[in-house]
Amino acid sequence: MSAPNYPTPTRAERKAWRRKKENDRRVAAYRNSLPSAIGQLTELLETAPSDWHADVIRKRIDHRREMDHRRRAQRRQRFAARSPEEVRDAQLAKWPSGAKACKRCGEVHPVDSFPIRPASLDGVGIYCNPCDAQRLAESPNTPTNEGI
Ligand SMILES: [Zn+2]
Repeated sequence: MSAPNYPTPTRAERKAWRRKKENDRRVAAYRNSLPSAIGQLTELLETAPSDWHADVIRKRIDHRREMDHRRRAQRRQRFAARSPEEVRDAQLAKWPSGAKACKRCGEVHPVDSFPIRPASLDGVGIYCNPCDAQRLAESPNTPTNEGI
């Protein structure tokens, strides 16, 4: 068995490869000097010294968004896998009085008056049952966030 015979790179190819490697190194060094918060990165993007810098910042923002998205999905999965007792404990920890304010009408209702959302921290939705029904009636095509 002999090693596969790759064509010898030309001088120009070697030069291009070295230049790419050098650029990758500069990108990594600049990327590591950047903050991780998307808000700070967005501010930096406005004052980026060059297109090259802006490109690195934009890629970093995309990467952060992707990571956040993945982390939220993992958290939803973890929440959804809880037993009813664990959900109850989480509700009591978040709403010690057993009541929660609706994000739509602003009224305070017992936690039981909210639709069940196993994948949320407190196991229920953010709108009370009447508001949720109203919301669905007004825009039936809106995702119900079932399981979120
Ligand atoms: Zn409400």
